[in-house]
Amino acid sequence: MREGIHPEYFQAKVVCNCGNEFVTGSVKPELHVEICSKCHPFYTGQQKLTNARGRIDKFNRKYGVNA
Ligand SMILES: [Zn+2]
Repeated sequence: MREGIHPEYFQAKVVCNCGNEFVTGSVKPELHVEICSKCHPFYTGQQKLTNARGRIDKFNRKYGVNA
């Protein structure tokens, strides 16, 4: 890799609102995020999320709402 061709690239420290820190490649040396793989519902509450959706579907059927 020759210098001067690529933009500056850091091993960025990413700090999440949940307190989790991890390192990723970025053009910025430090990043702050509101959600990460540790606290994202997809990872932490997938089952809960699925259950909630099921309840809503049941509610909609019960009251004849086509959502
Ligand atoms: Zn997080």
